[in-house]
Formats: sequence, structure tokens, C-alpha cells
Amino acid sequence: MNRRQFIYSGLVAASTAVVSPRFASAQVSSGGGRVIVIGGGLAGLVAAYELNKLRYDVTVLEAQERPGGRVLTVRDFGDGVYADAGAARIPSDHDLTLKYVNEFGLPLIPFYPTQGKFMRLANGMVEQTDWDKFRDATRFAMGLGDADHWQKIKGGNDLLPKAFAGRLKEKVRYGTPVVKIEPTQNRVTVTFRERDKLQALDGDFLVSAVPFTMLAKMEISPAFSAAKMEAIRTAGMTSASRVFIETKRRFWLDRGVNGFAFGDDFAEIWNSTFGEPGTHGIVQTYVRGGYSAALGQLSETDRVATTVAKLKKFFPEIDANLVKGRSKCWSEDPWVLGAWANNGSSAGQRREANVFFAGEHLSNHGSWMQGALESGLRVVNEIKTARQAAAA
Ligand SMILES: Cc1cc2nc3c(=O)[nH]c(=O)nc-3n(C[C@H](O)[C@H](O)[C@H](O)COP(=O)(O)OP(=O)(O)OC[C@H]3O[C@@H](n4cnc5c(N)ncnc54)[C@H](O)[C@@H]3O)c2cc1C
Repeated sequence: MNRRQFIYSGLVAASTAVVSPRFASAQVSSGGGRVIVIGGGLAGLVAAYELNKLRYDVTVLEAQERPGGRVLTVRDFGDGVYADAGAARIPSDHDLTLKYVNEFGLPLIPFYPTQGKFMRLANGMVEQTDWDKFRDATRFAMGLGDADHWQKIKGGNDLLPKAFAGRLKEKVRYGTPVVKIEPTQNRVTVTFRERDKLQALDGDFLVSAVPFTMLAKMEISPAFSAAKMEAIRTAGMTSASRVFIETKRRFWLDRGVNGFAFGDDFAEIWNSTFGEPGTHGIVQTYVRGGYSAALGQLSETDRVATTVAKLKKFFPEIDANLVKGRSKCWSEDPWVLGAWANNGSSAGQRREANVFFAGEHLSNHGSWMQGALESGLRVVNEIKTARQAAAA
């Protein structure tokens, strides 16, 4: 391998890749074989968790310093309140999400209140309304099927990926972005960066559980099939953004509204602190597509100011109660570059040598935690089958 091959995204690798002694010793295969998982979002975590149960020797390489990817609970507000910036709602028919929530003993609470009035715009004017009309208005942004029974995890949805990661312990390696994949017929080598040094790790199987926008940045040598490379190259993501406005108290309750509304720009407006202890409130707005892209063009200060101005229609008291605001535009998150995949292809799912592919973008429930979990479990079965075929 020549030195040029170690150049990735402007990083000039002055060092030669080394296999650390820690990894070298781990290469002695265990019962099921050694599996490297790229990405510690729900797809990668569930695959690692189930393969670990089956006595495969798993290592998850996660670029960030936390598990969960797009399941992110923001906790830097006062008074102990928090809000989910990514996955927020769990529909009642998402059996896999609910299965793991139950397996880890995580408590669920309703996402939508049954008390108080909702709000929506009618001919540009704010109208207080009941659940049915609010749900119908919200249908413009997304189908709220059986949303009467949608739930969230008490304490924040990031407790789910944290529970997986807690079971896997040191098998999840944080701050280890993968930069190169080298698949051969029976094995695979990945190169990742850790504390500015490149390291290599060998495995029997590799699970790629990163969005294709991230896979597109990795060097793949030799390249996957033409169909797979095309699926990776053409992958697109939808834009979605959240703005969180923290308030000194939940003043809206004084006038019998519950803090949920449907506003300008097809924005869903949520009282994220519904069901949380404490007195501070968080009003969260959620925009998608072009509205999200436009918001992303603004500075952080302007995102907050624009959002507060729009929220005043529903919450005239907001200025007097404002603590602070902050935003999360998923298109600018360097580890995903979007909110969810807006296209998928069967070529995307197909294995390449001993490399297997998971992630919400490769599932029947794209843009949901359920999809990420479903894809991770599919890959577990594919690896089991491949292992059995190799042993036969
Ligand atoms: C705004 C928004 C709203 C949503 N709302 C809901 C909802 O209400 N309910 C619901 O169920 N779902 C919702 N979702 C969808 C849900 O969050 C995702 O479908 C799911 O979390 C995706 O999981 P994943 O494992 O496929 O990908 P990710 O969570 O993106 O995980 C991929 C992981 O790979 C890591 N990574 C990336 N590049 C590298 C690299 N080079 N090397 C190593 N690691 C790397 C990332 O850091 C990340 O941790 C929402 C998502 C968003 C963004």
C-alpha cells in the first residue's frame, strides 16, 4: 500500500497505519467470528448487541464521543429540562422500538397531551382547537395516523442508544471515524482515525451502519460493485431542523393551552417539556425541506430570533419569559449531513463480499428508529447465514 492511499479528506497521513497491540490480540476469532461495525447509531448498536449475544467478537467504531447518532437528547437547558433533537415520537405499531425499550426497562410516557387546547392557524389567525383538528392540520407536515397513542421515553429518547451502548461497554470505541474499507473475499480491513493517528483493524465481517452520505467519504479499495457505488454516490438526504426556545416557566398552561400547535412554514410546534418535571418550559419548532434549508442559512442568533418572532403569534408572552434559544439543523451535522434518506435502492442493501449494510436508509421504515433497528437485525441474519455457509 502506498502512502497516497492514506490520504483522506484533506488529512495527510504522516504516519503509517499500525495495528495496535490491543486490536492485534483481539483478532483471535471468537465463537462466531470477528465483526467490525461502523457507526454507533441504533442500526449499528442493535446489530452489535445481538451479534454479541450470539458470541461474535464485536467492535463498534463510532466517530462521535457519544452513541445514538440521530437519537440525540439536548440537555444543556436550565432546571433539568431536556428536549429530543432527532427521534422524538414512538408510534404504537413500532414493535421493534418498543421491544428494546421494554427489554431495557425504559419508562414510556405519552408524547401528546390529552388535556388543554391545541392551536393551529386558520386563515392566518391563531385558533384554539381540539386534538382531531390539530391532528388533521398536522397531516400537511406528516401523517399522524394513530398518534393518540404515540409515546416518548421518560428522561429522553437517547436513553435507548445509551442502554445498548451500556451493554456493549468497551466494545464501542468512541472518537474513531473510519476513513477506509478494504474488503477481500473472506476478510475485511478498516482504517480509522483515533487521536490523530491512523489505525487498522481486521475482521471476518464488516457492518456499515452509517448513512450513505458518510460512506461516500470513505476510500473503498477495491471498490464495491458498480451498482453499489452508484447507490452510495447518488444518496440524498432530506433537510430537517429544530429550534428550542427555553422559557422561565410554562406560562401557556395559565390560559388552558397545552403548548402544541401547527404554525407557519408547516412547522410543528411542541411543548417538549410536556411530562417532564421542573418549571422551565421548552417550546420546540420542527421544520423540514426547503423551510429547514432556509433556516440553516441563518446565523444561530437569527434562527432563534426568527423562530421567536413566529412563535409570538401563538405565545405573545414568550419575550417576557425567554431564557435562551438554540437550534439543530441536521444538514450541517458532519456525521450525517441530513435528517433522513430521501431515496433508497435494493442495490444499497446487497452485501459486498463480507461487508453488510444497515441504517434507516436501507429499511422499510426509513426516517424512523424502527427502520434503523429493522435493518440492523436484517444484517445479523445475513451474517449468521454467511457464517453457516462458510462453515458448511
Ligand atoms: C429531525 C429528525 C426527526 C426524527 N424523528 C423521529 C421520530 O419522531 N421517531 C423515530 O422513531 N425516528 C425519528 N427520526 C429517525 C431516527 O432518528 C433515525 O431513523 C435513526 O436514528 C437512524 O439510525 P441509524 O443508525 O440508521 O443512523 P445514525 O443515527 O445516523 O447513526 C450513524 C452513526 O454513524 C456514525 N458515523 C458517521 N460516519 C462515521 C464514520 N466515518 N466512522 C464511524 N462512525 C461514523 C455517526 O456518528 C452516527 O452515530 C428522526 C430523525 C431526525 C433527524
